[in-house]
Amino acid sequence: MKDVRTDGQPKRVFIRTYGCQMNVYDSDRMADVLRPLGYALAEGPEQADLVVLNTCHIREHASEKVYSELGRLRAVKTERRAEGRDLTIAVAGCVAQAEGEEIIRRQPAVDIVVGSQAYHRLPELLAQVARKAAGVDPGKRQPGAGVLDTEFPAESKFDHLPSPQGIRAGSAFLSIQEGCDKFCTFCVVPYTRGMEYSRPVAAVLAEARQLIEAGALELTLLGQNVNAYHGEGPDGSTWSLARLVRAIGEIDGLARLRYMTSHPRDMDDDLIAAHGDVPQLMPYLHLPVQSGSNRILEAMNRRHDRDLYLRIVERLRNARSDLALSSDFIVGFPGESDADFDDTMRLIEQVGFASAYAFRYSRRPGTPGAALVDQVPENVKVARLAALQALVAKQARDFNESKAGTIVPVLFAESGRKPGQIMGKTPWLQSVYVQGNPRLFSHIVDVRLIEGYANSLSGEIVVGPVEVAA
Ligand code: SAM
Ligand code: SF4
Repeated sequence: MKDVRTDGQPKRVFIRTYGCQMNVYDSDRMADVLRPLGYALAEGPEQADLVVLNTCHIREHASEKVYSELGRLRAVKTERRAEGRDLTIAVAGCVAQAEGEEIIRRQPAVDIVVGSQAYHRLPELLAQVARKAAGVDPGKRQPGAGVLDTEFPAESKFDHLPSPQGIRAGSAFLSIQEGCDKFCTFCVVPYTRGMEYSRPVAAVLAEARQLIEAGALELTLLGQNVNAYHGEGPDGSTWSLARLVRAIGEIDGLARLRYMTSHPRDMDDDLIAAHGDVPQLMPYLHLPVQSGSNRILEAMNRRHDRDLYLRIVERLRNARSDLALSSDFIVGFPGESDADFDDTMRLIEQVGFASAYAFRYSRRPGTPGAALVDQVPENVKVARLAALQALVAKQARDFNESKAGTIVPVLFAESGRKPGQIMGKTPWLQSVYVQGNPRLFSHIVDVRLIEGYANSLSGEIVVGPVEVAA
């Protein structure tokens, strides 16, 4: 049955996404689950009847941001109720999974807390809220009136989700793997997302075909530890990510294929080789190393050292000479000395990254790192972060500048900031701004790159025959 408002308008949902691409994918899938109930997407909370905060628990301030946002939503809800209407507030994702009932205790305005493995049950949870509301004076809603589902259900949510609709400007995410068994000592993912789970090959291929038929030119395969993929193949054998990538690469109409996030330990020979022989696989890989110090890598339980990382990078570049790399770094992990940090800086210089994300270590309750006694002072973390970011910013600019003067295919996605300008992505995920028509959105067009900057490039669309250097 479709939900409609008393004024006959369709109900609207606003989903705010925090954190990584996995959450962007999950938010799209929540919209897919709610669509059959009649929910259209709202531009913001003010226009919405249901607000979902799809949360991230990776760093400390992430959950604090959620609580501040809930405070603001509570005020909107109170105003609504004064007007005789309501606002349903749901918290989903990793904060929901980790904190569960505590969220409703801290913020009683929350109606639904749904974990990352249970959001296919949103319709049922909304029905429960409606039933509870029918028995409760909405003006006097009591703490604990919210409904909670943070189970890791035996059935996979993927078997209960409708067909995906989330294609943005020719590009779509496809979740193939969830959870993680690596237990890095700083990370909450194994606790919030659960043990590693790979979707069966047939389900992944069916979703890939569907997305491509619906207009996706580019697919990004997602997983917390995506290259640990080990899905059941149609014949009962176990498929690796390399085998899956090769099969997806054969689907007609797919121009670009990416996968993230990978663990260095799971970069096997076949996957490295695939970078050389699957043309759709883009020459850009996010391969987090976290630290360049063997001592810290061990304390982090990363299961690889700097040499293994450097060898993998070399082999990847041998397989695909134009491969660019990005990474995540954590500075100030407990016990990190100046010498350890120098090792990280030297590794960055040695590899040369096209981009990188760097974070100050933040203690996550329940993880082994949080219990370590030799925590690094905050001012030291701040100084190291600034030094590291300055180095990777220089490398990113150098990388962008190195592409100036070349002609590359660009997948156009959206309008630029200036009038008449449009923006698209190169194979290396750089943003390129050109003068062009929005009709080019969702198309791949050759662009001559003119100038490289800190975070983007300028270019011009190539008209007429293109001469490609031999
Ligand atoms: N699975 C990926 C990997 O193995 O690198 C990344 C998962 S995590 C969602 C994304 C990034 O958040 C990590 O690579 C790490 O750099 C950062 N991160 C995770 N826990 C953190 C913590 N406690 N403090 C600071 N950064 C953290
Ligand atoms: Fe977290 Fe990634 Fe380590 Fe898994 S491999 S525990 S997701 S950082």
